[in-house]
Amino acid sequence: MGGGYMGKILRVNLTNKLAKAEPLDPKMAHDFIGGRGFVQKILYDEVPIGADPLGPDNKVVMAPGPLSGVFMPASGKIQFGALSPATGIMGDANMGGHFSAEIKYAGYDAIIIEGMSDHPCIVVIDDDKVEIRDAARYWGKGSAAAEKMIKDDLGEDYQIALIGPAGENMVRIACVSHDFGRQAGRTGIGAVMGSKKLKAIAVRGSNSIPLADPDRVYEQGRKMFHGCFAKPGFKGWTPLGTSGVTPWVNEVGAFPTKNFWTTFFEDHEGIGGEALKERIWLTDKGCFGCPTPCGKYSHTRVGKKAAYVEGPEYETVALLGGNCMLKTIEEVAYANYLCDELGLDTISGGAVVSFALECAERGIITEEQIGRKVQWSDIDSFEYLITAIAKREGIGDILADGVRAAAAKFGQGSEKFAIHVKGLEWSGYEARWAPAMMLAYMTCDIGAHHNRAWAITYDVAKGREEVEGKAAKVIELQRIRPSFDLLGACRLQWVEIGFEFEHYPDMFEAVTGRKMTVEELYEATDRVWNLTRTRAFLEVPGFGRDFDYPPARFYEEPIPTGPGKGKMLTLAQLDFMLDDYYAQRGWDAKGKPTRATLERLGLGKCVQDLEGKGLL
Ligand code: SF4
Repeated sequence: MGGGYMGKILRVNLTNKLAKAEPLDPKMAHDFIGGRGFVQKILYDEVPIGADPLGPDNKVVMAPGPLSGVFMPASGKIQFGALSPATGIMGDANMGGHFSAEIKYAGYDAIIIEGMSDHPCIVVIDDDKVEIRDAARYWGKGSAAAEKMIKDDLGEDYQIALIGPAGENMVRIACVSHDFGRQAGRTGIGAVMGSKKLKAIAVRGSNSIPLADPDRVYEQGRKMFHGCFAKPGFKGWTPLGTSGVTPWVNEVGAFPTKNFWTTFFEDHEGIGGEALKERIWLTDKGCFGCPTPCGKYSHTRVGKKAAYVEGPEYETVALLGGNCMLKTIEEVAYANYLCDELGLDTISGGAVVSFALECAERGIITEEQIGRKVQWSDIDSFEYLITAIAKREGIGDILADGVRAAAAKFGQGSEKFAIHVKGLEWSGYEARWAPAMMLAYMTCDIGAHHNRAWAITYDVAKGREEVEGKAAKVIELQRIRPSFDLLGACRLQWVEIGFEFEHYPDMFEAVTGRKMTVEELYEATDRVWNLTRTRAFLEVPGFGRDFDYPPARFYEEPIPTGPGKGKMLTLAQLDFMLDDYYAQRGWDAKGKPTRATLERLGLGKCVQDLEGKGLL
């Protein structure tokens, strides 16, 4: 095994309370690189098909990448994954902070949590020493409050990943939290931890990461840091972070507003990056080794409610601000704090609350069912609903399963505006007037998430009405962006300040000693992409093309207001893009990977598994 890898995977079984280190499989390292690649490969191999996502057979896997923790910009990303209780297919979520590097320093390339404890517990990892301790005193506590308690008990030098009350209550949109404001937000992995009664994982490490060529790593790392500092966008982007994009998204008619009813929010100036900086910002906060710290640590006050919170970043501004129509940055930040402390993904949390508000407005759910009057632009309504969701109280018990499940219960046409794909709530770019972005959401392997292909800038540059050529761009982005998830690095330097992607394969070679071209890295992302797609066919009876369509609002209701007024993609256009996408991916008309594609990528096991189910 070359440098970059620690050579071990830690397996912790919560049923029999055993922990053991296993050697890292060199073939897995070669073919799947690390991070999301390891997460999905381990889940594919180890979680039985048809397992209950909240049962003992599901596993939580977390993996840094081969570049995590090394001397280069922003090398602190980690992937969490599990069979998702939100979607029923394999899920994963990306988290920044310092947890990733610490796992490497503790000596591991991945941690697998399996089985189920019968009482609240915390896994404490101190290099080779691993203990499963009682966590009764942390159970029921909010994310930041519990993280503080754990740090007080163990020491500041431990890095903690933990769940809040929503995860404990197995709310299917619960996140994993870390570092007082960083989250692995998507696909409900917090609920899987909660089902295992696992409140937290605490890690401390003292090992060095082996490097194939330390001098070259140093030179390449220096080059990369200086390269970032020299980018024209370096000084401009950091002060506002991701929320700085808010005016632009409104200007191009893509800002989720009123449960994705429209795409322009009249009050967006009051909730964007400028308002954040002027009114609530205290200091910047970044992940491990980051030259462009996008975390905006803030203090907010809304009447008698006050809180410290990291954020809100753009997605939070969009889903809690525009989509729930909260009109001030103070309210958005307070709503952000509530989600963080309860342990809820702000994207899905905002989407579920806005869905409930629209259901209430239309009389689909009554005041009596909800327990009080709720309305748009009202922080008290938001607090009431989000707390009910986290505690699974009253109507919150239904909403806690996400918009797809809630719409299936509420009926009365609510499916049309339950905004999700594959059960995952849509994130912060409304795409009725952005074909490539629409296709990116439709084809994202975990459900409607933007981070695999942020394609809206391509739509704006190349034509908003044009559907031809969009599939190729989406696939290109679905190769570049997930590369960062395999390597264990942040993509935002590449996205936001134009830092060259070619530096990363160079650094990979310096760290691991393995020469890898950009094309080989893309092929590894394709391997993971086809693995997750195949697993969805194996996991969900009838899975295929029908699961890739957006909700009917997006192809039946033209945008009603703002710059995109009257715009909409038709179902025929969506089908054109899907056909094009499937063909370029090497998939059949239902979107299933063909034998030739799987064999080309070395996924013989997928071929056998599909054959075994009569699907190939
Ligand atoms: Fe973390 Fe933001 Fe820096 Fe990325 S840009 S490493 S998310 S602080």
